[in-house]
Amino acid sequence: MHGRSEQTQLLDARVEQVRFAHGKRLEGLHELGIFRIRDLFEHYPFRYDDFSNIMRIIDLPLGEKNAVLGRIHEAKGRRTARGGYLYEATITDSSGMLRAVWFNQAWLADTLTVGRQILLLGKTEHYNGFLSMASPLYTLVAPQPAAADTSPRGDQQLQQVEQGPEPVGIAPVYRANSKLSSNWLKRIVLEAHKLVPEPLDPLPPGLRIRRKLVSRQAAWQGLHMPPNNEELALAHRRGAYEQVFWTQLRSVYAQKQLMQGLSGFTHQKVGSLSRALGGLLPFTLTDSQQRALAEIGADLAAPLRMNRLLLGDVGSGKTVVALHALVRAAESGWQAAMMAPTEVLANQYAAQLGPLLDELGIGWALLTSAVGASRRQELYEQLRTSGVQLVFGTHALLEPDVVFKELSLIVIDEQHRFGVEQRNSLIAKSPAADFLSMTATPIPRSLALVRYGSIQASYLDNRPQKTRTTTVALGSSVAYKAYEAVREALARQEQAYIVCPLISAPEPADGEDIPYLDDWESFSDEPYIAAAEAELAHLRTQVFPERRIELLTSRVKSEEKQRIMAEFREGRVDILVSTTVIEVGVDVPNATVMLVLDADRFGLAQLHQLRGRVGRGTRDASCFLISHNPSQGARTRLALLQKYTDGLRLAEADLAMRSEGDIAGTRQHGAGSLSLINVIRDSSLIEAAHADARELLDTDPELALAEHRHLRFELMREGSTDSN
Ligand code: ADP
Ligand code: MG
Repeated sequence: MHGRSEQTQLLDARVEQVRFAHGKRLEGLHELGIFRIRDLFEHYPFRYDDFSNIMRIIDLPLGEKNAVLGRIHEAKGRRTARGGYLYEATITDSSGMLRAVWFNQAWLADTLTVGRQILLLGKTEHYNGFLSMASPLYTLVAPQPAAADTSPRGDQQLQQVEQGPEPVGIAPVYRANSKLSSNWLKRIVLEAHKLVPEPLDPLPPGLRIRRKLVSRQAAWQGLHMPPNNEELALAHRRGAYEQVFWTQLRSVYAQKQLMQGLSGFTHQKVGSLSRALGGLLPFTLTDSQQRALAEIGADLAAPLRMNRLLLGDVGSGKTVVALHALVRAAESGWQAAMMAPTEVLANQYAAQLGPLLDELGIGWALLTSAVGASRRQELYEQLRTSGVQLVFGTHALLEPDVVFKELSLIVIDEQHRFGVEQRNSLIAKSPAADFLSMTATPIPRSLALVRYGSIQASYLDNRPQKTRTTTVALGSSVAYKAYEAVREALARQEQAYIVCPLISAPEPADGEDIPYLDDWESFSDEPYIAAAEAELAHLRTQVFPERRIELLTSRVKSEEKQRIMAEFREGRVDILVSTTVIEVGVDVPNATVMLVLDADRFGLAQLHQLRGRVGRGTRDASCFLISHNPSQGARTRLALLQKYTDGLRLAEADLAMRSEGDIAGTRQHGAGSLSLINVIRDSSLIEAAHADARELLDTDPELALAEHRHLRFELMREGSTDSN
């Protein structure tokens, strides 16, 4: 056997070194993102089937998943009326009788035969007066020959006879594929444990003691071969902590490296221009705007580079907070830039904020792809010489020709709409500049930490508007109620949106994940267009023939779009039918009703953002979410939307049901790097890991101390810094 440090180095060896990891199975491993031995250990089971707690049939609680051990008393298969196959067995133990059924598995007639001992794991239900399990997991077992019986645990004298590794106890189930089954993975992981039984623990002992974390070795063993639920829980805790800890350590470290040799901008304290801006605004800031501004202000005045995310629902008033920050930059004699994902939005800044800046005498400009070549050259020159202090723009700001004299503040609005490279290419124009990003996507603090590591977050959690939007989920048989509400709103001279679904996609299966946060942002609305056109025709001819109804999709030409939007804003169009691509910046206070058709096809965050388009005026609004036959998962989501009007509460409720691995998508991170985390349940663990990473790097920035040697090795090893 290798020594501990050689074993530790083996973690970065190719996975082929493990027994059984070759040929097709190796391809299967690669498809799962497993290339090195380490990846194998970090490919955690996504589920455990708990066969450990075997209950007597008579004690089985209804509606719960449990294991029983019994004998097959009777068994028969039959064709169902619909041409399927149903296999039914009666299982008995000393306490009672249980019915088990399986569907469309004709081979069971040869395996689950009368008299065999069987271990079942399933949910107990009542069916026609019988205790029953539908499609339970099963294993055939045989009592061990008495002579060979040396096990002290009488109730577990079981021996697997039919299939691979014994699923007695707590059986891990792995994400697998056609080339590699979960059972094979289990074997390969066992082999890896033989090769690397005692890797060194990278976490310093002091930290482990303080946070009560078991060793790496215990964590990997506990997660892959849990002897019982208690050890599984301890292993899980260490695994979860570590997943967050590394993202934190990497991102804090990267941030510090970036700042090395750069002195950040120390902005002046609030001056006369900032005060004058307050007087120019037609409203006073809400409490949460003031709080956010104070947090941002403190960062601006500090020499360290600001890296802050401003989060607030649509309409919570982020723009004016950003404006205050921009003015601070100008006041300090430096430059600032604010980037938007669309031209509409950039134009809106110019239209709304420009006049205020003019009043203050601050030179500003707008840079989008619509700006002509000669004006553009002139603008480049002004930015280079600081002739212009503030610039609003789109992606056009990223052009290499855009060079600033002294850019001290960068603001990115709707930041989730930009890719990492885009964000970085703007930052690269002035790496020490204070950085503020803004988003309406509700991200609880713990998720922001996990995603963005070293970032700080400010929340706008109350809206300046006083209106309420009521959300109602309706089955399609009562969808007429929603159309009635539209009719009533139109009669009051108000307006409505009708958002159309994807018609051609398959129904999402129950439990299937609808993208949570921003994945959908990049979806094209192409598949939705046919549905929207059909709905338009239906509304025009059948439902509201006397009304003006227009259609807005990505296929509508730019000028046409502007005309439709202008007419809708002026109240000349009554109903706007659209796909989900309702442009950013659509702000029509007189629209008070929204219908979302086939709402179960959309994600929570998407529905929340959509409904933010109504209720922007002085009147209360309503949003109807219509669906037929939603799956259980969809029904739960729609119920959450009815219950929570606040984006953050909503996100928390949604996130409580998911692991971060589901949300962030394991794609960017390699094999399930945050799969153990649930950002709501584990929020205190996340805070702890974040604090620990910061503290470590504050006291030992280069991890040069002897006790941090393994930590440093792990941080610096090849490939560990490409994420983030
Ligand atoms: P978002 O956070 O979605 O970017 P905006 O910044 O566009 O929201 O603000 C939404 C609307 O609310 C704007 O018309 C803005 O002028 C207005 N607004 C912002 N702050 C206040 C406030 N404190 N009181 C009243 N209205 C406000
Ligand atoms: Mg905004």
